[in-house]
Parts: sequence; structure tokens; C-alpha cells
Amino acid sequence: MQYTIKRGDTLYQIAQRYGTTVNAILAANPQITNPSMIYPGQVITIPQEGGAVYTVQPGDTLSAIAQRYGVTVDAILAANPGITDPDLIYVGQQIRIPTGEVPTGGIVTPQPQYGYDEMVADIGQLTSTYPFLEVQSIGESVLGRELYVFKLGNGDREVFYHGAIHANEWITALLLMEFVEDYAEAYQEDNTLLGYDIRDLYNQVTIWVMPMANPDGVELVTEGISPENPYYELVLDANLGSTDFSRWKANIRGVDLNNQFPAFWELEAASGPDEPYYRDYAGPYAFSEPEAQAMGNFTYSHDFRLVLAIHTQGEVIYWGYRGYEPEISRTIVETMAEVSGYLPVQYVKSDAGYRDWFIQDWRRPGFTVEAGRGTNPLPISQFSEMYREVLPILLYGAVAY
Ligand SMILES: [Zn+2]
Repeated sequence: MQYTIKRGDTLYQIAQRYGTTVNAILAANPQITNPSMIYPGQVITIPQEGGAVYTVQPGDTLSAIAQRYGVTVDAILAANPGITDPDLIYVGQQIRIPTGEVPTGGIVTPQPQYGYDEMVADIGQLTSTYPFLEVQSIGESVLGRELYVFKLGNGDREVFYHGAIHANEWITALLLMEFVEDYAEAYQEDNTLLGYDIRDLYNQVTIWVMPMANPDGVELVTEGISPENPYYELVLDANLGSTDFSRWKANIRGVDLNNQFPAFWELEAASGPDEPYYRDYAGPYAFSEPEAQAMGNFTYSHDFRLVLAIHTQGEVIYWGYRGYEPEISRTIVETMAEVSGYLPVQYVKSDAGYRDWFIQDWRRPGFTVEAGRGTNPLPISQFSEMYREVLPILLYGAVAY
């Protein structure tokens, strides 16, 4: 595989990122005589142990093959969406073996209190580093922040992923930003990601990624609020007088954006608070908030085959809604569960969520991924593990239906 050196890279970092060693890189690149002298734009060869295609032999099992290559069964399944049952492989079958390492590095850096400004800075760097990346704003938040959506790919089949609709789940924005970067890097380098050929994926599927559906709420949780903010009084009341906003899920007007969609909205509204609150208030009516309106209009103006709502926490994947979900959702969630280790759960007692509305009105697959485990906001120390679990879901979601 070829890799183009970027500013700030060291051979040691590159080696780590691709699960190899500096010595192995030097052996593959005799033109590098001094390992500390590499320069941006220089193209080097990354020796790859993984990325192989393996032909199944008599007596093979997936776990034996995984052991041999030093990868997990989950990683092999993620790279081979055609294998729906890990016990059903046959002699002569060709299996893609992914590299053991998930590349993380470059622009998006996991950091505590990752908010709107950090995301905007990363969007700027990503679009200048990867000119083929398209990003658009589909509307504005209550306080006028842009609601950014990345367009990954050019295929006819469209899917839509969103994160951070709940303010204290801002780490999900970071998960999706990392995904955008890894996708873009793999596309640019004509490389695979967990065994997926990203150039093929680019041509077949358009993945729309909205990292942060609730930027005002995320800013409140990560930065706090000043008395000059027009919603200062409302927010303090809705947070029961406390200036600790770590439990805040709503937007800046105290409306829970994931209770804003017309799927049994009246039931949801009747079961929760009837005024602005740090969580669960469904608002005065469905689509009363600009963030929810923007997601609704965006969904009406596209033809999404499948949607993923990325939340924290619980390590579960919800896949049904009041029986409106198509039968294929059951099959899809089984694979998502296998590649992530998360538990599939058909129903949760809740209405008026984005995914609920999508399933109800389109009768297509929609999944809520509750990433990680702990108390929101989850600590940044969980990020790598969460990303390792969620990345195969994000890739598989693009080809599942
Ligand atoms: Zn949530």
C-alpha cells in the first residue's frame, strides 16, 4: 500500500497506525536513508501483513483463521458482509482478511469536551486535506450554528447517519468525525478500511453523515453558558438551578430533539415534562425546533435506504419500532451485533425519535446504536474501544440494505 506523508507525520506514528514497525517500513523503502528525514508529499510503501484474501481449506473455522492472522472473528465478519452465519463457511470460499489495526490519526483527535468549534476546525482541515470531501449545512440551530452534513460517496444508494442529537452524548460526534477522516484517507490512498474497498463503496453508496445534530446543546455541556446568552434563565430553570450541565440532553430551548418527530408524538409528550427541561420535553408540537425541522426536511428530500442514530450508552442496538420495521432489520442487526459485540434489542418504550419516525413512515431499516457503557458524558478514555466497536457497524450499514 502507498501512503503520502502529511505534515507532522513521523515514521513511528505511521508504523503504529498501520500495525507495523519502523524497521519494516525502512526495509520496504530503501530510498529512506535517514528515518527522521521524511517530508510532506513523499510517497512511501507501507508493508502490509493483512489485507490478504484467504481461500477456505477443509477443516477451517473462522476462529482458527482469525487466530492465524491475529485478527478477531468480528473483524473478519465486518470485512465480509456476505458471511451472515460465522459457522457457515465452505471449502474454496474466498475470505477477505482485514488488517488488525484500525487506523486512527491525522486530523480528528479524540479529546475531552469536543464541541462545535473543535468540529468546525476539523471540518476545515478535512476538506482542505481531502478536496473530494463534500460538506453542506442543512440548516441552523436555535442559536444560528450550522447543521453540517458530510456527503461520502457518489452512489445511488443513500444512507444517513447522525450523532450528538443528545447534548451530553457529544462523544458520538467525535466517533462520526473519525469515521469521515478514515473513510477519506482510505479513499485518497485507494486503500481498504476493515476490508471494505472504499473506492468501490464510494461509487455504490452515498453515506450522509451528520456528526452533531444538536450543536447548541453540545456547547452548553462542553463550555457552560454565560449570562449574555438569550436562553440563560430558561436553561438554568430547566436544569433545576445547577450550572453543571453534564446531564443535559436537550437543545438550548430545553426541548429533547429526539422527541420531536411525528411518530406517536402526542403519547411521548403526554408521558414527559410539559415545559423546558434538561431532558425528555417533547416541545410544544412535533418539529417545533429548527434542528428537528432540518433533519426532517433533509430526510424528505432524499431517499434513505437505512438510517443509523448514534447515541451513548449501553452497548445495545435497537432495531424495531411498534412493528413497523421490515423483516430484514432482524437479519441486519444480527450482523451488526456480531461485528460490534453489542446486544440487539427489538423494542424500547419510547416514541417520537428520529429513527422511530423513519421506520414508521418509510418502513425501512433504522437502528439506534447505544455505544459504550457508563454514565453520560462517557469519558474520552473509552473512545478507542467505542470506535473499534462502532466502525464496523458504520461500514456494514452502508452495504446492508
Ligand atoms: Zn441519546
